[in-house]
Amino acid sequence: MNIQISGKQALSVLYSEKEIKKRLAVLAQQISFDYKEKDLVVLCILNGAMFFFTELVLKLNCSLKVDFIKISSYEGMKSSQNLKVHLTPQVNLRGKDVLIVEDIVDTGRTIKEILLILEKSRPKSIKLATLLKRQDSSYDIDYCAFSIQGEFVVGYGLDLDGNYRNLPYLATLNPSKETSLT
Ligand code: 5GP
Ligand code: MG
Repeated sequence: MNIQISGKQALSVLYSEKEIKKRLAVLAQQISFDYKEKDLVVLCILNGAMFFFTELVLKLNCSLKVDFIKISSYEGMKSSQNLKVHLTPQVNLRGKDVLIVEDIVDTGRTIKEILLILEKSRPKSIKLATLLKRQDSSYDIDYCAFSIQGEFVVGYGLDLDGNYRNLPYLATLNPSKETSLT
């Protein structure tokens, strides 16, 4: 399906809202089972993971706390070398079982940076749940909803320069002159 937004960007639906919800229900069941009897803190990586995090947490059937971390790495469609930390968790993570919730793992650089920050708080365990991962990424992920190839994805929280986050589905963006990779 091709959708035209503002007459500029052509979007192709990659995973529909229904497909995402169905997959997240399975993932949530697995996570709920794994974290029974644990001291879980689910950590949302803002902004991209916000809808994935919300949907997942609402489906988790175990006791937990939530908190947020904000870090930015991308400028346009290119990964920037400069990672900026804007917000760190307020919950005391010492001795807790932390589940990081991320939108997409590409090179793994962002996650490695976040791990360095979190390990200073001495949690008991740290695992990672991600909505998307690139097939060629060698980064080890505990819970992954979907595996994708090299395409740039927007929607369901993922953006291009702050836009498209509110699309209720995941879509690939077909670059036009306005979104060229240069
Ligand atoms: P990494 O540090 O693993 O290379 O990149 C991960 C971060 O880059 C993600 O948190 C996300 O913000 C951004 N990113 C990577 N690929 C995409 C993509 O296809 N679409 C969007 N919107 N962001 C991406
Ligand atoms: Mg992100």
